[in-house]
Amino acid sequence: MTERLYLDDPYLRRFEAEVTEVRQAGGRPAVLLSRTAFYPEGGGQPGDRGAIGGVAVLDVQEKGGEILHLLGGPAPSGAVSCELDWPRRFDHMQQHHGQHLLSAAFERVAGARTVSFHLGEAACTIDLDLAAARLGPARLREVEAACNEAVFADLPVTARDLSPGELARLPLRKEAVKGSRVVVVGAFESPLDASPCGGTHPRRTGEVGAVAVLRASRQGEGSRVEFLCGARVVAALAVAGERLAGAAAALRCAPPELPEAAARGAEEALRARKEAERLLLALAEAEAGRLAAGPPGPVVAELTPPSGPAAGWLRPVASALAAKGRVAVLGARDGERGALCFARPPGPGPSAGEAVRAAAALLGGKGGGSPELGQGSGAAGRLAEALEAGRASLAAG
Ligand SMILES: [Zn+2]
Repeated sequence: MTERLYLDDPYLRRFEAEVTEVRQAGGRPAVLLSRTAFYPEGGGQPGDRGAIGGVAVLDVQEKGGEILHLLGGPAPSGAVSCELDWPRRFDHMQQHHGQHLLSAAFERVAGARTVSFHLGEAACTIDLDLAAARLGPARLREVEAACNEAVFADLPVTARDLSPGELARLPLRKEAVKGSRVVVVGAFESPLDASPCGGTHPRRTGEVGAVAVLRASRQGEGSRVEFLCGARVVAALAVAGERLAGAAAALRCAPPELPEAAARGAEEALRARKEAERLLLALAEAEAGRLAAGPPGPVVAELTPPSGPAAGWLRPVASALAAKGRVAVLGARDGERGALCFARPPGPGPSAGEAVRAAAALLGGKGGGSPELGQGSGAAGRLAEALEAGRASLAAG
């Protein structure tokens, strides 16, 4: 059996051990050690990283009570010096202990029980048995404040196997899954929280630094709460600050004025788009009037759009012509691409959609639509031929 050094000393980052066995796991060399400070993935906390005898540790997994250290190179043998990726491990201790405090705060303040915990590379989440609708911003701030109160109180944290007598006296937040190891926050006589857990925890709550609740969302019948602890809070603030500064620079305002400036910008953009649409329709109406002044029969023309993509111009012009009782067979070029739009007044007759489909096929493209209006596109090379084909099929009506 491997001696689990992380249980007694979660701060141990360098140790000496013997390689007791070399195996293959998931196509990689893996070693078992006589003793290890590497935490194997479990209880929502990822496995540690680091090096064993100078070989990178890619993951640490527990299988059947054995701790497998998966390596990125040939397995060493005999006596080895081992070193943990300490910043990563300490980050996990901050996140994991922060989770204990947060779960306890959700239970105290909101009566919400934690059903699962995930510690990810970027985000940490807990799933609660309380509907997300009952976790409004005010409630989340209240829980967050209660949680940080426990952090700032810098309470002692004890993580060890408890005697049956101790277990019987402590109000455990959840059932023990295996073993009798419990993480107790505060004094044993009146603990703030006591929860069975085999993870790695700091000695005092103050080492968590701070806990920030980011958001709550629906997760089945319950909710999922995203949060950050310790150094991740500082890193997230830096990222958020950069984003706000970038947005403020783009909107030419100071960061505190962002919500107002963004709302104003969005409103102005919407108004400008509506105005552009209105102008384009007026222009299309005028263009249709000019085209309708020509000889009777289908109006066949290759147009030059005043702005934007060809299809956005052809459609309103074709519709305006159809509204004037004319058959429209229109095309335009978008660089190497050719766009088609055919329209005709309502009533019986050949289908504009079918006519576009056939004409677009000449361009090696696709098209279709209703009997009154069809659109299509393809390569621009044979655009004149496609318009002539459209004229022939729609004039037949
Ligand atoms: Zn835990």
